[in-house]
Amino acid sequence: MIKVCKFGGSSVANAKQFQKIKNIVNSEDARKIIVASALGKADKNDHKVTDLLYLCLAHKKYGMSYEDILQVIKDKHQNVINELKISFDLDKEIAGIHDLLENKKNSDEIISRGEYLSSKLLALYLDALFVDAKDVICFDYDGNLNIEKTKEKFLPYLENNKKIVVPGFYGSLPNGIIKTMTRGGSDITGSLLANIVDASVYENWTDVSGVYVADPKVIKDPKQVAIITYAELREMSYMGANVLHEESILPVKEKNIPINIRNTNSPDDKGTMIVSTAEDDPNDLAITGVTGKKDFEVISVAKLNSASELGFLSKALNIFDNYGIPIVLMTTGIDSFSLVIDKKELKNNIYELANEIKIKLNAEDVSVYDNLSLICVVGRGMRSRKGMAGKIFSLLGENNINIKTIAQGADEISIIVGIDESDFNKAITLIYEGFIK
Ligand code: ASP
Repeated sequence: MIKVCKFGGSSVANAKQFQKIKNIVNSEDARKIIVASALGKADKNDHKVTDLLYLCLAHKKYGMSYEDILQVIKDKHQNVINELKISFDLDKEIAGIHDLLENKKNSDEIISRGEYLSSKLLALYLDALFVDAKDVICFDYDGNLNIEKTKEKFLPYLENNKKIVVPGFYGSLPNGIIKTMTRGGSDITGSLLANIVDASVYENWTDVSGVYVADPKVIKDPKQVAIITYAELREMSYMGANVLHEESILPVKEKNIPINIRNTNSPDDKGTMIVSTAEDDPNDLAITGVTGKKDFEVISVAKLNSASELGFLSKALNIFDNYGIPIVLMTTGIDSFSLVIDKKELKNNIYELANEIKIKLNAEDVSVYDNLSLICVVGRGMRSRKGMAGKIFSLLGENNINIKTIAQGADEISIIVGIDESDFNKAITLIYEGFIK
């Protein structure tokens, strides 16, 4: 039984965090594969090493000195080395980064040095085997990860009795050139390795004890979700709950490997289990989470009998396609329909678009409403429990919140309501208190 443990930036922010990691990984033999992010922020005023590396690159690009920034990067690592008494030639590594910057070499390689250094130090401190991601995490030339090739390269290292530390966030192209992933990509490295070794669980160690039922910026000390399905997590993530890199789900989901979100600062907490399927336990909370997202617009189109006019909707959708605007939600009625779109997809062309709809569809009225927020109540239990939608609507209605649009997915794991932006926090609080407390 092998567990893959990924430690995010805050879990490797300083020497104290390295010590916590040592306790965590040494407490179980199964915790054999460790993936590390670059050194992250130890406190609010600190900086992530990856951000600092990007900053060095930007300074170099504009002909400005980056020496001070490189010094901050060096100091951060030097502190870890000193406090943990690791023997490591940091000067040589920093000179290497300097050289890469000066010679305008592959910028991905420069950005990857954060993970490279944190993992080197962690491997030394844990007395583990360091396996460079550039030797095992394989990309094809089109930028896609090649699971088969990665497997072939990585599996032989498992023979080694030691624990293995692999830097997250990067790998290499077939010609050996280093390529980084998108931000937060260490999650993907961990997930990929979990897939390859058929891990019993993919532990993702961070600074919170799991997925929150609601955003802590809205609800003070919200509860944590014990079990959530991948499908529920997708709904929550789309609506703003940021837990994992989106692309990290597929490799583990494919093999039904659960992801366990854990807290490096509170390792006894069980965290959140993300699984393929879960039965609804009547003792569980009625909902898994409530999230929301602001900044949507609604276009409503009215025309008598539009529901029976062949091709009416497709004409409208075509216009959106031509403008390159995806549709988030659609509600239809006998004489009208409404489309919800994300404001950031609009390029100041909403009225032009509304006008085109009016002309091409010969509509009686096209109106635009631009202050919509979507609130999404997520829960696999909603399928079997009755009165859930009713309860949501009454909670909002009784508290003077006007519901502008409603949608329930066909799989019945979420109910989405559109409300005015000014009611956003109030609506989330009412639903949280109504269902969770
Ligand atoms: N260090 C990278 C970032 O800050 C990757 C990661 O931490 O997952 O995005």
